[in-house]
Amino acid sequence: MRTRLSILTWPEPKGGPHRAICHYCDTVHLAEPIAEGSRANCVLCGATLFQNRPASLVRVTSFSLTALLLMIVVHTAPFVDMDAAGLHTELTLPGAARALIDEGTPLVGLGVALFTIITPLILAGGLFYVCAPLMFGRLAPGAMFVTRWMSRSEPWNMIEVFLLGVLVSLLKLGKVADLHFGIGFWAFAGLMVCMAAAVAAIDKRELWDRLEVAKGQ
Ligand SMILES: [Zn+2]
Repeated sequence: MRTRLSILTWPEPKGGPHRAICHYCDTVHLAEPIAEGSRANCVLCGATLFQNRPASLVRVTSFSLTALLLMIVVHTAPFVDMDAAGLHTELTLPGAARALIDEGTPLVGLGVALFTIITPLILAGGLFYVCAPLMFGRLAPGAMFVTRWMSRSEPWNMIEVFLLGVLVSLLKLGKVADLHFGIGFWAFAGLMVCMAAAVAAIDKRELWDRLEVAKGQ
């Protein structure tokens, strides 16, 4: 059955296996198919060339969908509650970016918006858009284009860096104000885990092979 097969196995592209070059010693290998759950190592230095991750499409689709749902919570629920000098303030993530732009640091504000809102949205949205139809052996319109942009946006996804920066700042602020983490903060922490799991769920080489095979069908 095509659907079952397309979920379970890493298909081999029509022109036969590709070449895989070791990033560490530049040795060229013929990338033969490997069993699910196993990895291919360089014959010379032993570095990992690629991995056939188990249930890759199911995992990437579920983690990216969860990430997209968590994004709604992150962007609407309060990130942090603060009581200082009798004033109560609630801050959301888009509100923080807007405040930075309004308070005279537009570059920092735009950076926060780009690296913590727009890039994760492109990455999680793109992974879901491309991988959900692939589970049924189908190619979404413009899937190649979306995958290329996802790869470009991946290094700019900096939610971990932002979360670490927020934690350090809040620890310092906690000495002068009464702080409480809101639902948005916990959703953001969950988003970080889901994004990392979604990206790690499928090898890029497998994704391109699956796209190529779906295109040829
Ligand atoms: Zn090597």
